[in-house]
Amino acid sequence: MPLDRFGRDINYLRISLTDKCNLRCVYCMPENMTFRPRQELLQDDEILRLVRIFAEIGFHKIRLTGGEPTIRANVVEIVRGIAETPGIKTVAMTTNGLMLDKLAQPLADAGLSRVNVSIDTLNPEKFNKITRWGQVEDVWRGLDAAEKAGLGIKLNGVVVRDYNDKEDVVDLARLTLFRPWQIRFIEMMPFGEVTDFQQAGTVSEEELKATISAALGELAVVDNGRLDGEARLYKLPNSVGTLGFISSVTQPFCASCTRARLTADGRLRLCLLREKEVNIMDPLRAGASDEELIDILREGIYWKPWGHKLSEDIIPLNRVMSELGG
Ligand code: SAM
Repeated sequence: MPLDRFGRDINYLRISLTDKCNLRCVYCMPENMTFRPRQELLQDDEILRLVRIFAEIGFHKIRLTGGEPTIRANVVEIVRGIAETPGIKTVAMTTNGLMLDKLAQPLADAGLSRVNVSIDTLNPEKFNKITRWGQVEDVWRGLDAAEKAGLGIKLNGVVVRDYNDKEDVVDLARLTLFRPWQIRFIEMMPFGEVTDFQQAGTVSEEELKATISAALGELAVVDNGRLDGEARLYKLPNSVGTLGFISSVTQPFCASCTRARLTADGRLRLCLLREKEVNIMDPLRAGASDEELIDILREGIYWKPWGHKLSEDIIPLNRVMSELGG
């Protein structure tokens, strides 16, 4: 079991399959983003080898993200290889959903169990503007396909002040009245080159809950307030789904953090909001043995930072979110 120096059991790996995306959400990456050449990214066999090694040291949950994981060539085969790795219990994916109409069934057949689909508003014009060119109908098609394929579904909405923090969050929350989904509202986090915009736009959990309950009724705490992953769950009266609030900025959940991230260029990122990374790619490509890689991973995990230092104005500047995967 990989423990860090604070005794946290780190067993959940989020792998970024690519830094590229077929959208350009304004809070996620600059419009003129340059992407890494393919040879600088972990290759399929390198990903599968690392997953096997992570599983050997006790990781059992994998989430694929990006960039946009569904635009990676061979994504279905990568999912299959991960799902078949001894020790891996769940494989999930965070996606914008645009490719799910074609990929949901093959991904489910390959062993994917859940998708978290990002959608910040149901309003077609606003969706188009925040993603710089996306069509919300394409996400709906993807969601229908995911439901048909039997995948578990959660929706992720990043909340941006004066953009989607009023009627849009209410419309998203209303979905839980007739869909058994978890709709999660994510506080916008500051990263890299888009920091000023992000900090001005963060909306706190308390504000959001007040907006939603004024429109749709009192929110009841689910499960005595126990965190579901990183989300605090609530329910609207007579709803079939739940609402989750992920308040990484105003109410961080560092004490219960179990995760590490593998970037598309093969760095182990120990905390989303801290710059510290361990280079795995170089030893991997220099021919390190499994035992040597295990030592590097264990050492990196041991020194995982406790959590973010946004209140001290320490903001991660070395990467934007699209390179980290959320
Ligand atoms: N392309 C996929 C998607 O759209 O879900 C996966 C990658 S995306 C970086 C993962 C998640 O990070 C999305 O839900 C996205 O909305 C969220 N995200 C991006 N930038 C963010 C920011 N600055 N603060 C909080 N969440 C952010």
